[in-house]
Amino acid sequence: MTTEKKQIALFDITDAPDPRDKFGEIDLHSYDHYIVAISGGKDSVCCLLHLLENGVPRSKIELWHHRVDGGKDEPRVWDWPVTDAYLEALARAFELPLYYSWKVNGITGEMMRRNELTKPTCFEVPGGHTVTTGGNRGQESTRRMFPAISPDMSKRFCSSYTKIDVGSKALTGQTRFCNKRTLFITGERAEESANRSKYLRFEPHRSDRREGRLARHVDAWRPVLDWSEADIWACMKRWGVQPHPAYILGYSRCSCAYCIFGSANNFATLREIDAQGFHQMAAIEDELGHTMKHGASLHQVADAGKPYAAATPERVALAMGTTYDQPIIVSPDQWELPAGAYGVNDGPQ
Ligand code: SF4
Repeated sequence: MTTEKKQIALFDITDAPDPRDKFGEIDLHSYDHYIVAISGGKDSVCCLLHLLENGVPRSKIELWHHRVDGGKDEPRVWDWPVTDAYLEALARAFELPLYYSWKVNGITGEMMRRNELTKPTCFEVPGGHTVTTGGNRGQESTRRMFPAISPDMSKRFCSSYTKIDVGSKALTGQTRFCNKRTLFITGERAEESANRSKYLRFEPHRSDRREGRLARHVDAWRPVLDWSEADIWACMKRWGVQPHPAYILGYSRCSCAYCIFGSANNFATLREIDAQGFHQMAAIEDELGHTMKHGASLHQVADAGKPYAAATPERVALAMGTTYDQPIIVSPDQWELPAGAYGVNDGPQ
């Protein structure tokens, strides 16, 4: 009988931890609260679906949407009008609570600051109440400019002030997260940009104080960080979840309609389907004497693009309306890939 000798590997790289994970892989079922930061975009929707596919109980999941235009009673400037209705339909379909949070006056308020403090933050809490916090400390300062098109969050203040900071304040402002373990889930994907490819998949959230007096344990998890766009659409199809109407119009990304990273085709389409909103944004450029895009006005950017052929009147009416009155979940056989799938990847970096 021959004895087969096997070389013992010095180390097995398949056992090596992902260097981007600080603590190795997550113990997914160890949390009391699972908060999905949901924009309505496909990646954040897939974060929710991934939790459900992994058996996280719905009773522990909540959806948080940071409104970029401030509260519901404030004018719409940046967002898709249908986003709230789309998210409310999604939350109803999965029987999950949806909480809104926002900075008063949204991105526009921060952008128009003139010798002022930054505005307060508001967030909805269980029981139907809204908490308002901040806005009375710090330094008076002036911006009078659009957020910079930059991965640097201190310059790209739209994301940092109206999303990241708002989410943190909503976590630190609720005692229900003290002495508890909370998982805060966001949908960044490495494929989207060089900057995002450097993100960690799992790390303590900036609001974490697990060693502190309040024992608030909060981890940040980016479960779709390594997913391809094909993985995302396959997940949406598996669940039959209809994508946000922006994708059906031909947009490859969905967050703010007037995202500062938008392409010429994005803006050419908006000028055609949302003349009032487009002129409102162009008038802000005139008022500030500062353009959203470097060296070109919004009209010049739109002139260089072409409206999406998929933006038919019926689809435009859905995206530009404030109701979502069609089934948000269909059978996977009926589910169709939207026109915006696999398009030019314009969006946050
Ligand atoms: S989607 Fe674009 S404009 Fe909106 S917050 Fe993010 S980076 Fe800013």
